[in-house]
This record gives sequence, C-alpha cells and structure tokens, in this order.
Amino acid sequence: AVSCLEVSKSFADLEVLRAISLDVAQGEVVSILGPSGSGKSTLLRCMNRLEQPTRGLIRIHGDPMGYLEEAPGRFRELPERDVARQRRQIGMVFQRFNLFPHMSVLENIIEAPLRVLGSGKAEATEKALDLLARVGLSAKRDAYPEQLSGGQQQRVAIARALAMEPRVMLFDEPTSALDPELVGEVLDVISDVSRSGMTMVIVTHEISFARDVSDRVVFIDNGSIVEMGPPQQVIDHPQEERTRTFLSRVK
Ligand code: ATP
Ligand code: MG
Repeated sequence: AVSCLEVSKSFADLEVLRAISLDVAQGEVVSILGPSGSGKSTLLRCMNRLEQPTRGLIRIHGDPMGYLEEAPGRFRELPERDVARQRRQIGMVFQRFNLFPHMSVLENIIEAPLRVLGSGKAEATEKALDLLARVGLSAKRDAYPEQLSGGQQQRVAIARALAMEPRVMLFDEPTSALDPELVGEVLDVISDVSRSGMTMVIVTHEISFARDVSDRVVFIDNGSIVEMGPPQQVIDHPQEERTRTFLSRVK
C-alpha cells in the first residue's frame, strides 16, 4: 500500500505538488490523469524517493520513505543506502524502456536479482523464464534489446521490474513512446499484472485503459488533486469543469 500525506514539492520557487493526499490500498490499482506539467511524474518520483518531497510524508506499507520512525511521529532521516533498500520494494516502469543494451533479455531480467537480492543463478533464471512466459516473450530470451520492437522492450522492462518482487509497481506513461500498433500488447501485460493483486499506480493518457484497469482514477491539475473516485465517476461523469475539459481533449 502507498500512503501520501500532504505531499508538496517545489523546485526553487516553482510549486509542483501542493499538499497531495492519496492512499492506495494493498492490491488497488490507481490511475493518475492530468495535463502535461501537472506534476504526475514528480508524484511517482516522490513515491520511490527519486525526488524528496519538500513537505509531507509518503509511506510504503507503513514505512515512511526516507525515514526511520523511531517512535510514533518521531523520524530520523535514513542514509542513502537504506533509502535504496526501501526503493527496491517499488518497481518502476518508465516511458523509455531503459534496458541494458549490452545484455540479453534474460540477462537483463536476472541482473538485479543476482546482484541486489543475492539470488542464485538457477533460481533467478527459472523465475525470469516464468516472467518471460507471462509477458509472452519466451522465444526472445537470448535476443538483445536492439533486436526487439519497442513494445517487446517495454514488456521485458515490466518483467525485469517484477523479478525484484516489488510490493508496489509504478508506471509512468508506459506506452506513450510506442508506435500505436504496439500499445495494446503492453497494456495487456499491465492488465495481467493488475489481476495478480499487485498494488499499482499508473500515469497514463490511455483513458479507456484507465477505465478498464483502475479501481480508482485521480485527476491532477497544477499539482493538486482535482477529483478522485471510481472510473465510472471521474471518467464517465466528472464533477469538475477542469476534468471535463481535460477529458474532452484526450478522449
Ligand atoms: P508530462 O505529462 O508532460 O509528463 P507531468 O505531469 O509528469 O507532465 P512533471 O514532470 O511532474 O509533470 O513536472 C511538473 C513540473 O515540474 C513541470 O513544470 C516541470 O518543468 C517541473 N519539474 C520537474 N522536474 C523538475 C526538476 N528536476 N527541476 C525543475 N523543475 C522540474
Ligand atoms: Mg510525466
């Protein structure tokens, strides 16, 4: 589960997030919609502490990101090594695929489990092959990223994130760099992950996908939550003018 309590983030005097409070329950799928520059990526990056909020607190399964809670309400900042350990519980898939170009598909997936989790090679390989089957790419285990389509690369990136057995998965516009004909295969894989009970936060412009996959949808504008609720409410019957305007542009 992910809990954001009054999270604000400024870059110099630009306030990008303004007191965002959002709870994502265990196993819940929440999609974040909003115009370009509204703070969606910054919010995800705060969740895994690639960015540090200026104010507010983010908890992942109760643990405050970046801090040790010595007593209720008493926090000590964690050194980067411990923050990195916290971050490992959170898988992230970006717009660009970010695979290691000099490694095969299989090597890409087992790299972090071997190095970071200390898994044995046989065990990591077995798990990687399961994940490759799940994303429909068993035949590509020995291919290199440049030999794959963008959609295939993104499916490998999802398998690679899952190989770390994260407790939460964050997706930042995972299909917006893809040719239109490749979008569906990646969305299908993300839907499949959502049905496995994974807690997920998805930033996307794919409105019909967000409607299908999400338990709740959050519409963000100018660093604030404008509207939040089930997709039938926020997407199909938005209450706020700003949500309606946004949806009429992207739908
Ligand atoms: P998009 O849909 O285009 O991806 P977004 O909603 O993800 O947009 P963010 O990337 O979170 O938006 O950016 C929100 C605002 O914060 C933008 O005005 C951006 O220029 C600014 N911003 C983001 N990162 C930084 C940074 N490291 N330094 C300064 N400003 C930043
Ligand atoms: Mg973004």
